[in-house]
Amino acid sequence: MKVALIYPHRKKDFTGCNPPISLLYLASQLLQAGHHVTVIDRDDCDLSDAQIVSRLTSYSPDLVGLPVFSTNLAAAFRLVNLIADTNPHWKILLGGPHPSARASEVLEVFDKCDYVLRGEADQSIVDLVTCLESGADLKSVKGLSYKVDGTVVRNPDADVVRDLDSLPFPARDILSDAYRRRSYWRIEHRGITDVIITSRGCPFNCRFCFKVSNKFRPRSPESIIGELMDIRSRGIRNVHFMDDLFVWNKARCLAVLDQITKKKLNMHFKVRARADLIDEDLLSAMKRAGVSSVAFGIESGSQTVLDSMHKRVTVDMNYRAIRLTKKFGLQCYADAFLGFPGETPETIRETEKLLLDAKPTALNLSVMYPLPDTPVYNAAKAEGTLVGDWDVKGTRPWIKLPWIEDLRTLYEYRNRVHRRFLGNPVVAFNAARFLFPRIGLTQLRMLADHYRRTVIGR
Ligand code: SF4
Repeated sequence: MKVALIYPHRKKDFTGCNPPISLLYLASQLLQAGHHVTVIDRDDCDLSDAQIVSRLTSYSPDLVGLPVFSTNLAAAFRLVNLIADTNPHWKILLGGPHPSARASEVLEVFDKCDYVLRGEADQSIVDLVTCLESGADLKSVKGLSYKVDGTVVRNPDADVVRDLDSLPFPARDILSDAYRRRSYWRIEHRGITDVIITSRGCPFNCRFCFKVSNKFRPRSPESIIGELMDIRSRGIRNVHFMDDLFVWNKARCLAVLDQITKKKLNMHFKVRARADLIDEDLLSAMKRAGVSSVAFGIESGSQTVLDSMHKRVTVDMNYRAIRLTKKFGLQCYADAFLGFPGETPETIRETEKLLLDAKPTALNLSVMYPLPDTPVYNAAKAEGTLVGDWDVKGTRPWIKLPWIEDLRTLYEYRNRVHRRFLGNPVVAFNAARFLFPRIGLTQLRMLADHYRRTVIGR
């Protein structure tokens, strides 16, 4: 069977653009099962809807699969309708976080979509394609939702992949032209950047986070080194570890970093960590292995808000993690957001204080839009504080705080914190010293646009 997998959303911003690794994983499973697959990434060549459809027409698939995110419902809806109108014989499959959380609603609203696969689809996409090819009953496909005579049928949930080493490496060859065109890059690295996933799952329960599985499943160091060497053989030296929680098991993490060091891969890595799990042993091993940046979801500088998020870290841990990371000469990225229930002008001042005192190398400060089926979303809905909801017109929900009338207030606070952070001479000097030797004109333009929107507020 011929399958086209499309990454329909723009993921490129001023910080860079990653390859669509989840689609490359699915593609490798389908190829291994003997099917024909193409992957179309909108960011490669900045494709319009019409250009995506034109590529589909040339490929002439039997099945078209797309991941859908809550934040991109409107764009996905437009593209799905265009695909269905162009050729009604192409079957359409949706997956990803939003359909996983709201399969029935997606099948109703995206009325031209045929199937939804919920959760991890590594096995279920192969089962679905095999069933479609043979005409077998779809009842056996775990994780599948579909319509029969207008009624949604929900099969039992798919199992998560327990042995990640059993999966083939992502099918990067399919996007070799995109890699050649240097479509994938990160602002902090020179040259092409790739992505690797060395584990799946996270046992924490942060109330704003949507996850498929709480079960942490690591790959072996040998499997990870094998994939890194494959990436290296393609001339790529920069890799972003996209695990939910790379540092969950310290012994395993040290073993992976040790192997990377011993292999002398001479590559640069960016990893994500949690403030409570980082320590000098790990940072020292990261430095030796070639890690140049560590990102932390610090979320807030208020202990009240962190506790309400069930983040299970303290403000002091956040301070310590940022300072320690910088002490080892690594870039330290901080992700935080405003608008969680319990947020007040005072808690925002606490977040600002944390950022200005600890001075992470880079900051991503956003305003929260609660994702469907997360504890914070469900609680706000039950309490009547959820304003609006995710829909295909592009509406996003937010949670009403007693002291604000609309989201503009939170954006004004966000911009003010950004201004003060970037206005700090030490932060500005370090950012300029780090960025300017690395970025070209295109990134500089994107950076200026980001600055205009998030700092000046226009
Ligand atoms: S935010 Fe991070 S630590 Fe918290 S549940 Fe999600 S993946 Fe786990």
